[in-house]
Order: sequence, then structure tokens, then C-alpha cells
Amino acid sequence: RVELTRKGDIALYSAKTAGRGRFVMFVDAMDDTIRRRRVIEDELRAALVAGDQFELLYQRVFSAQSRQMCGVEALVRWRHPALGLVMPDTFIPVAEETGLIEPLGEWILARACADARRWPIETLAVNISAVQLRNPRFVDRVIRIVEESGFDPRRLELEITETSFLDNVQHCAANLAALRAHGIRIALDDFGTGYSSFNHLKLFDVDRLKIDRSFVNAIRAEGDKSPIIRAIVELAKASLIQVTAEGVETQEQEQFLTGAGCDMLQGYLLSRPLSAAAIDVMFHPVGHMDRH
Ligand code: C2E
Ligand code: CA
Ligand code: CA
Repeated sequence: RVELTRKGDIALYSAKTAGRGRFVMFVDAMDDTIRRRRVIEDELRAALVAGDQFELLYQRVFSAQSRQMCGVEALVRWRHPALGLVMPDTFIPVAEETGLIEPLGEWILARACADARRWPIETLAVNISAVQLRNPRFVDRVIRIVEESGFDPRRLELEITETSFLDNVQHCAANLAALRAHGIRIALDDFGTGYSSFNHLKLFDVDRLKIDRSFVNAIRAEGDKSPIIRAIVELAKASLIQVTAEGVETQEQEQFLTGAGCDMLQGYLLSRPLSAAAIDVMFHPVGHMDRH
């Protein structure tokens, strides 16, 4: 039966993920990759029907100057009953190839808005895939979801990677302009990794640049070895664009980035991604609510 094959594939996949690959040595590498991808695809479809396997974590973002928390970024996780915790780098690309990113992306946006409504934060950041941005109906869907959730669109920031713009510049620019007309802010994610970064700044009005983790990671204690970060910050200041540095893991990095003029900092040093319940507790600590 098809179902049996499917279950077999899952078992195989789990075995391999767990690193116990010896039983399956006969499967050649290419066949294996295709199989894994198909398992993910089938299971993604099933998960979207089941509806209870995805969850959002929220990583806090801090003001570099005041060290106050000013926002969160929503990061999706998939808890599959047999595969366990699947990370977005594994399933988002498959969701994009199969078009499943559309329903998943809508769920993510709706969930994030519903959660963040409870929190007194300036900014809720939600990642958007290039595939979503390309869709002519994208803006209408976003507006509808945000309206239905009752979340203030001026507190919403959509994170888009530069490579999103490569296939359909005209279309993307129109979509971004429409979103901004509704008060939604736009951030360019993973900034500096694309090959025509500086051109995009002229083409699109964006509100924020997020300096890619790879640049932050390259900051070392000995002296200033980060001319690229300085250049990005200067460019952003001149264009009145905010700058966030992500992937901040050490105090050296934190100090350098603050000194270099970054507006916001994000990274494991400051906060790991947390559950919505953990963020709730931060704003409404147990025992403090009844006293007022
Ligand atoms: P991203 O948008 O660049 O998200 C930041 C990633 O860096 C997250 O990984 C986060 O957990 C991780 N991170 C944060 N601080 C640090 C740090 O100090 N050090 C290190 N090494 N890593 C740090 P995550 O959650 O695995 O997400 C990976 C990517 O998957 C994201 O990269 C984003 O491109 C994509 N993604 C995640 N959630 C969504 C989503 O809801 N929708 C879409 N379309 N893509 C998503
Ligand atoms: Ca992001
Ligand atoms: Ca990023």
C-alpha cells in the first residue's frame, strides 16, 4: 500500500537523521536525497491538513543604545510526530518548491499577529519567502490577515531577502510599495550576501537592513576588521534606514556593533528564540497580575 511505503520512508528518514545509517547503506546517495525530499513534501501536505504540527518561536530584538527589548522575530518550527523537530532550513525550501509556502506563510502571519497582539512591543518581524512576494494577490492577503487579527499594521515588519527581487523586480517593487502604503515596514534580510545589494537600495524603499550573520561572525577581538559593516551602517544612515545586526554571539561583537552605529541587535548572546508562552510570562509575570 501507498501508506505503508510512506511510513517506511519516514522510518528510513528518521533512522538516517538520527545518524544510524548502517541499515540503509544500499540506498544510493541520489535516490536517498530524492526520497528525503519526497518524504518532507508528503509530510508537509499532511501537516498543513492536520494543522497542529507547526509552531512559532520568537527571538527578541534589542535597541543597541538602551538595551531595551523593542521587538521580536517570528521563527517557524515543525514538530512532526515521527521525524521530531524539523528546522526551517530543511522544510522551507521544499515548501517553496511545492507552493505549500503559500498556506504555511499565511498561517505563520496569522499566528504571529495573534500572539504579538498581547505584547507591548514596537515591532513584530515576520519572514516572507520570495515565492509569496511574487504572487500578485500577496498584498491583499497580508492586509486581510492583519486586519482580521486586529494587529496594528504599523507594528508589523516583513523580512524579505535580497534574492527575492531577482526574478521580478517590477512586480516586487509594486507589492512592497502597496504594503508600505498600508503602514507595514519592510526589512532586507541577510543583507550583504546577495551580489547587487546596493542597487536594491535605490530600487526599493526599505525601512531596515539586517546585516547578515556571516559579517557579524567575522568580528574578532583584535582591532577593526569589519569595514563592510561600517560601510553598510554609513550607507543606511545616509539613506535614513535602520540597521539591525543579527547573530550576535559575543560581547566583542556586541560592543563593536553598538560602536559602529547599529540601531538594533539580535543574537544568542541577548536571547535565544523563545516560545510564545515564555514571552507572555515576560510581560505578565505570574503573581503580579492580581495585585493591581
Ligand atoms: P533568518 O531569517 O536569517 O533567521 C535567523 C536565524 O538565525 C534563525 O534560525 C535563528 O534561530 C538563528 N539565530 C539567531 N541568533 C543567532 C546567533 O546568535 N547565532 C546563530 N548561529 N544563529 C542565530 P532558524 O530559526 O533556524 O531559521 C533559519 C532560516 O529559516 C531563517 O533565517 C529564515 O530564512 C527561515 N525562516 C525561519 N522562519 C521562517 C518563516 O516563518 N517563514 C519563512 N519564509 N522563512 C523562515
Ligand atoms: Ca529573518
Ligand atoms: Ca537573516
